[in-house]
Amino acid sequence: YDTFNPLTSSYEIRYWTIKAAPILNDAEDISYIVFSLTDVTEVINLAENERLAYEAVELQRKQLYSLFMQAPVAIGIFIGPNYIVELANPTLCTLFGRTEDELYGKPIFEVMPESAGVGIEDHLDSVLYTGRPYVGTEQQIPVMRRGKQKIVYFNFVYEPLHEVDGSISGVIAVATDVTEQVHYRHRLEESEHRVNMALEASNLGVWDLDIPKDVITRNSRYDEIFGYKDSNLPWNSEFLMEHIVPMDRERARMAVKKAYLRTGKLNAQARIKWPDGSLHWIHCIGTVYYNEKREPVRMLGTIQDITERKEKERHKDEFISAVSHELKTPVTSLKAFCQVLQRKFVESESPVAAEMLGKMNTQINRLNIVIQDLLDVTRIEGDRLQYRHDTFVFNELMSEIVEEVQRTTDTHTILIQNTDPGIEIYGDRERIGQVLTNLLTNAVKYSPGKDLVIVSLKREKDTMVCSIKDFGIGIPPEKHNSVFERFYRVKENDPSLVSGLGLGLYICHEIIKRQNGMIWLDSSVGKGATFFFSLPL
Ligand code: ATP
Ligand code: MG
Repeated sequence: YDTFNPLTSSYEIRYWTIKAAPILNDAEDISYIVFSLTDVTEVINLAENERLAYEAVELQRKQLYSLFMQAPVAIGIFIGPNYIVELANPTLCTLFGRTEDELYGKPIFEVMPESAGVGIEDHLDSVLYTGRPYVGTEQQIPVMRRGKQKIVYFNFVYEPLHEVDGSISGVIAVATDVTEQVHYRHRLEESEHRVNMALEASNLGVWDLDIPKDVITRNSRYDEIFGYKDSNLPWNSEFLMEHIVPMDRERARMAVKKAYLRTGKLNAQARIKWPDGSLHWIHCIGTVYYNEKREPVRMLGTIQDITERKEKERHKDEFISAVSHELKTPVTSLKAFCQVLQRKFVESESPVAAEMLGKMNTQINRLNIVIQDLLDVTRIEGDRLQYRHDTFVFNELMSEIVEEVQRTTDTHTILIQNTDPGIEIYGDRERIGQVLTNLLTNAVKYSPGKDLVIVSLKREKDTMVCSIKDFGIGIPPEKHNSVFERFYRVKENDPSLVSGLGLGLYICHEIIKRQNGMIWLDSSVGKGATFFFSLPL
């Protein structure tokens, strides 16, 4: 019952033992009773605490057991030097292909002979005798699963099992099956090895640019391409720029900017200077990766030394240039002689001869165009294509060229559909005329069996846009960019059917670019093609 404790000024439950002893008189009657009280609160409390502690331990044991039994990792407790199985959770049973009944109470290596003798015993022994836990990774252990022996990789932890008196009675083992991960990693290592071998064989430098941190990670070939043996260099975008020759830097910067902001792809060539002062050409290809906010965060790619290729290209250009120059004079004289003859035969009224000479003249003109194109291309490559700027009425140029090309075809009609007579352009009239000629001849050339080409012109804000539309074989969308490359011809268009060198559009692209305009197309196979070019007003 509660008693008042003056020290704490509160009531407290206390326990008492009461003893009542009767005291008898001579007549053996009870004359009085002696009560004695003992305060046993402490004893009672102690007993209660002990009971609670026992219950708590029991609960913990149960929880631990249930945790062991449900754990997704294999757990086993092995007792004594023979490692008698005291506990084996279901995961362990599954992993080792045994039932609980097969394992419980038996020495582990007796029931699982396939796993004996591969070194597990030594590790268990060392834990049992030294008390030091053991951690093992990716150990290969043969196990039986559905009657078949398999090699499984395990990560292990062996902990000593301590008794109350501190002695070690057994080992607790926890194991996870990491076979999948190990195989996965092996495959990864293998493919990495393969990629590295392929890269080495290809002589490509590989780089990985962390854009926010501005750090370039790369392989050793990358450094070699820049003329270094030492790989301890602070590669970042500025350091890279320092290697590019000043003349090519702006172009390189623009290529990177275009990749970040528009295309996501880098494809650029530049000249670099090696530490020994020699010049080299590099070709850089990369893909940009963006975060959720569409900010570029990473660019990954390859780099190649193309000095030799560039050198060969230069030789080729020089050769083409020399040959075209050599051809120019004889072809010009041929044309002159042809014209003299033509006049003569027209005068002598020999229509057959005059007609043949006319055809000859046409062929000489074609030859002239080819020579001119070849010369232009070599000039573009050497940055030697000259422009003469003047103000002219675009519409007049357009009519002139249309008339000229119209004369070369009896199959097609070239129709000027929309036009704007007021458009004046400041630029190289002859070069822009060359673009029109190229696009119109292509339109006729690549629409066999059709009879119409439509030219139109319109203003768009501060530019003019001219379009040339045909109804011919068309160009597949994935080739739209390539047609502007030099010597490129669409394979599907079967080049054997129509002659050409694949230079026309390359020259057009260069001229329009130099006139601060743009050139593009809209086309699909069989649906004809429309080429557009714009020029600033
Ligand atoms: P060149 O113009 O040097 O005589 P080419 O006509 O083959 O030769 P480009 O004018 O540069 O070269 O054109 C490149 C390629 O693009 C052509 O070979 C052709 O396959 C394709 N092409 C160009 N224009 C058209 C078009 N209007 N329709 C379909 N394909 C076209
Ligand atoms: Mg062409």
